[in-house]
Amino acid sequence: WKHAPQHFRTLLENSRWQGENLFLAYEDEHITYEQHYRQAATLAHRLVSEYGVAKGDRVAIAMRNYPEWVVSFSATLAAGAIAVPLNAWWTEQELAYGLSDSGAKVIIADDERAQRMAGSGVPTIVVRGEQWRELLSKEETTLPEVELTAQDPATIFYTSGTTGHPKGALGSHRNLGQSPMTVAYGLMRAVALAGKDPGAAAGAKRITLLTVPLFHVTGCFSALTTTMFTGGALVLMYKWDPEKALQAIEREQVTTMIGVPTNAWQLMSHPDLAKYDLSSLTTLGYGGAPAPPKLLERINDNLPQRAASNGYGMTETTALAIGNGGPDYQARPDSIGLPSAVVDVRIVGPLGDELPVGEVGELCVRGPNVIMGYWNKPEATAQTFVEGWLHTGDLARVDEDGFVYIVDRAKDMVIRGGENVYCAEVEAALFEHPAVDDVAVIGVPHDELGEEVGAVIRPAAGSSATPEELQEFLASRIAKFKIPVHYWFRSDELPRNPGGKILKTHLRREVLGDS
Ligand code: ATP
Ligand code: MG
Repeated sequence: WKHAPQHFRTLLENSRWQGENLFLAYEDEHITYEQHYRQAATLAHRLVSEYGVAKGDRVAIAMRNYPEWVVSFSATLAAGAIAVPLNAWWTEQELAYGLSDSGAKVIIADDERAQRMAGSGVPTIVVRGEQWRELLSKEETTLPEVELTAQDPATIFYTSGTTGHPKGALGSHRNLGQSPMTVAYGLMRAVALAGKDPGAAAGAKRITLLTVPLFHVTGCFSALTTTMFTGGALVLMYKWDPEKALQAIEREQVTTMIGVPTNAWQLMSHPDLAKYDLSSLTTLGYGGAPAPPKLLERINDNLPQRAASNGYGMTETTALAIGNGGPDYQARPDSIGLPSAVVDVRIVGPLGDELPVGEVGELCVRGPNVIMGYWNKPEATAQTFVEGWLHTGDLARVDEDGFVYIVDRAKDMVIRGGENVYCAEVEAALFEHPAVDDVAVIGVPHDELGEEVGAVIRPAAGSSATPEELQEFLASRIAKFKIPVHYWFRSDELPRNPGGKILKTHLRREVLGDS
């Protein structure tokens, strides 16, 4: 087991073969594979010797996307402990929940987060300062001894909390170990199908710009472990900023951008896009939230010949589970694509029966990427993980060729007088209107019908449309009962979490008041 391939320590040890090759870039800081290995090995020893961290203990990591996030993550896993990435956007209260729910023994945090958790009583290591330099000063070159198997837990990632309180998703070393394969295969398929990755074809280094936080699975797995596995480099940003992303792509010769659809959308809408040299950028991958087909059009217009891909994944599937890229994606821009090589998929009805092709039901996923369960939540675990199948809570259908289409989140669906209205479908239709820059469709309480359909719209810069114009536009696209009757227009951005998902509960409260 010591050198099991599906084991983070093996990944870390093998990453040393990359030696002086670039691993992490953050602004003007550049860290090689060897430097990262040594820092991680050193911190792993200190966690064991100075903080008494033992196998199975939880270490909370709470910071922005600094290189130290990666070092802390690697060190925690190398020491045999469970890494608990906490959301850097969380308030004092939310962080306190993460700490007590996970029972963290040690916190590794940046200054700001450390201050927000100052009252916790949990020993804290603050990165990027005196304490950190001191801790890493006596360099180690081996990992501490610990017996681990691929079945041992490695991570607790909190779900985004879109539908309720975030749940701790307990992932094993095996889950983590297979993550680069799902993603690398997906990317390979996308670029191979597109035939447009000259850099990768020539064996050149893949340089990935990460536009989302490392504390969500897209950052940690679709970007970080995949980069480590393929010997690439990862470019980190303090926070998402389209202008800075353009600069970073040019400066670091980025080949691949990984993030959420909103990132790609904002990049494509940037007024100075054409001023930058983006010739190195061959691949744009996004996921985690619905990607409107209009996004692919924008990419095709602005950056032709690129391999764009839309990935579907959840915290519970250790990032990517189903993906669409290359010509497949061009042909079916509204689909999330085919199940990844390791994943089985089925669509089930309310009674748990498997539904035939074309019918809408709950998407269920099975495979080595599906996590062990929820931390400390046996009931939620039993409800969600049934006989090896993960119930995603997403409504979907599959076509004759096996392509999967997300119809809506089960909890988002509006039921209007007994008819199901899928918000995602109405949003996609509204997105087609040139005056719509962003949109969220919500259910509005109605005495007779139960719910009516409403839309909150952010108009595109310099344009506007009246509710009547939008209704007329929709009339040729979707059935009458799905057309929103209530409209709210707002010039500021719709509230989104760092995962790019619209916070509909917030939005509903904002526009409807407390109901
Ligand atoms: P919570 O489970 O706490 O309510 P969450 O489900 O938003 O939060 P995540 O695990 O980050 O937390 O997100 C997974 C969900 O994101 C999926 O269930 C799906 O609804 C949505 N999603 C992910 N990728 C895509 C995609 N490519 N297209 C459409 N929806 C997606
Ligand atoms: Mg979820």
